[in-house]
Parts: sequence; structure tokens; C-alpha cells
Amino acid sequence: MEFIQFHPTALYHPGDRPSFLITEAMRGYGAVLRNLDGEEFMHKYDPRLSLAPRDIVARAIDSEMKLHGTDHVFLDVTHKDPEETKKHFPNIYDKCLSLGIDITTDMIPVAPAAHYLCGGIAVDLNGESSIRRLYAVGECSRTGLHGGNRLASNSLIEAVVYADAAERHAAEHISGYDFRSDVPEWNDAGTSHPEEMVLITQSEKEVNQIMGYYVGIVRSDLRLKRAWNRLDILYQETENLFRRSTPSRQLCELRNIINIGYLVMRQALERKESRGLHYTVDYPHPSTANPGTPAEPGAPTTL
Ligand SMILES: Cc1cc2nc3c(=O)[nH]c(=O)nc-3n(C[C@H](O)[C@H](O)[C@H](O)COP(=O)(O)OP(=O)(O)OC[C@H]3O[C@@H](n4cnc5c(N)ncnc54)[C@H](O)[C@@H]3O)c2cc1C
Repeated sequence: MEFIQFHPTALYHPGDRPSFLITEAMRGYGAVLRNLDGEEFMHKYDPRLSLAPRDIVARAIDSEMKLHGTDHVFLDVTHKDPEETKKHFPNIYDKCLSLGIDITTDMIPVAPAAHYLCGGIAVDLNGESSIRRLYAVGECSRTGLHGGNRLASNSLIEAVVYADAAERHAAEHISGYDFRSDVPEWNDAGTSHPEEMVLITQSEKEVNQIMGYYVGIVRSDLRLKRAWNRLDILYQETENLFRRSTPSRQLCELRNIINIGYLVMRQALERKESRGLHYTVDYPHPSTANPGTPAEPGAPTTL
């Protein structure tokens, strides 16, 4: 769960969800990354400059943003022929223009955005999880095919290949399924609707911030522990709220994102190395002791 891919160049336009991506092909075309002072910076991070791989570029941008205390950097394509740029990137041109950015004359504000989770529910070649007959297909699954990093544009493997495998397997094994019909109805006696939605929406924002600030592209033990302590408070508050509330979609989603955040943090803390999409300043190199294997799980605290 610690292997989260960030796309380096999402259009920086706060409030725009999902983020609009500025394709990496634009850097291949010659676009250059610059900080807010207009200076190129990739030479400080990788000899391949703006053509370095996704994870390296995302880390470089993150580092520049932290150095300068800014929320974004720029992608500059203004030195290229305007007509060529419009021809190559018509959608990006239109989208940016709709926000008042003419990419042939203006630099494009960009920031990294969470893009793909390489970890997830462990499945076998049939897409079946460790719970018999429960299949996990798509980005929520961990097939292992991506390892700790992932090449661009290959979601089809999980989405199509595994969907097909899971469907075949399920169809072959459907006969003879015994279904239980004696599951009792959910008992919500003694609960009430949360009196204030803000209790849920504010907590959601806090999880978002905790994950963004402390568990993002570049990690450290200190940041992860700080995140852990803060998430623990939200976890306890949310569990208390859940126990006395009539379940709602929003409340269940909040519990789920807290659980996901917890798993990402715990596994990030356990991995005492940098590998693939997990980078920590405390252990900046891959461990040779146990390649690909996380350290033994430590005893979780209260979470
Ligand atoms: C901005 C962006 C751009 C990307 N570009 C590319 C790309 O160019 N190439 C590439 O290969 N990959 C790309 N990816 C990754 C790729 O889009 C995802 O990996 C892929 O869509 C995952 O498919 P999925 O079916 O697992 O999940 P999703 O596509 O997220 O589908 C999950 C579905 O479940 C629904 N759902 C969620 N909760 C519930 C619920 N409780 N009940 C019922 N339905 C529910 C959602 O509404 C959604 O329709 C991109 C990702 C992002 C974020």
C-alpha cells in the first residue's frame, strides 16, 4: 500500500477534481519545468532533465515546491511553435484556455497528483483474494505485476486482463455455491443521525491534508509518525461517531479512507528502505537484505 504513483504534472487549479493531467508527452515534445522564479531546476536532480522518469520528476517538483514554499511549479512550452503545440495538444490547449491560460504564451501551473496505487488487495492469477469467492479487480487489487513502480498507461492489465480471468474463474465455480440467507438485518437501534455533517466533512479534509503533507511523495520516519498520531485521533473520533450514528454513505467512506490511510502509513513505516514509488529520506536506498520484502510488521499502536 506504500507504493503510490504520483503523476508529476497535473494542472494546478485548486478545486478541480479529478485533476486534469498535462500529459508527459509534453515534456517529450520539449516542454521545460521551471520554478516560480522562472528558473529551470531539473539539472539539480537528474541528468535526463525533464525527461527523467515519472517518480524522479515528481520528487524533484515536490522538492522545489518545499524549497520555495509554493503549491506548484510551471511547465513551459512557450518556446515551441504555437501552431505545432496546438496541433499536438488540442485538448490541453482548450482546457487551459478555458481557464485563461494560453499555453503558447503562458507557462502552465502544474503540481504532482496521486495517480495510481500499485498495492492493494492481494489476489492470485484469477483475481481472487484470500477470501474465497471474493474477487478484487482493477486498481484496488495487488496483482504484483507492477512491482514497486509502474510504467505509464498500462492499467489495462488489471482492468481488462484480470477482469476476464476473474469472470472465467467465477463462472466455472458458480455451481454449487451455498448462499446464506440467515444474515440478520443491520441493527441500528439506539443510534441517531449525526447532528452535524461538518463532523464528517471536516475529518475528511483533515485526512486529506495529513496524507498530502506527511505521507506524500517524499517521506521520513518523523513525518510518518506525526501523521500516525494525527490519524489516530481521527480514527478514535470517527469510531465513536460510528457507534452512536445511523450508518450513512459519508460516514462509511470516512471510515474507509481512515483505514486506507492507516494501511499506507503502517506499511510505509515498516519499509526501512526506498524502493520504487516509496521514498524516505531516512533510508534513501533499496535494502539489499531482503529485496522486495517489507520488514517484519511492528506491533501496531492503538490504530
Ligand atoms: C487523472 C488520472 C489519469 C489516468 N490516466 C491513465 C492513463 O492514461 N492510462 C492508464 O493506463 N491509466 C491511467 N490512470 C489510472 C487508471 O485510470 C486507473 O487505474 C483505472 O481507471 C482503475 O480502474 P478501476 O476500474 O479499478 O477503478 P475506477 O476506474 O476508479 O472505477 C471504480 C468504479 O467504482 C465506482 N464505485 C466506487 N465506490 C463504489 C461503491 N461503493 N458502489 C458502487 N460503485 C462504486 C466508481 O464510481 C467507479 O466508477 C489514470 C488515473 C488518473 C487518476
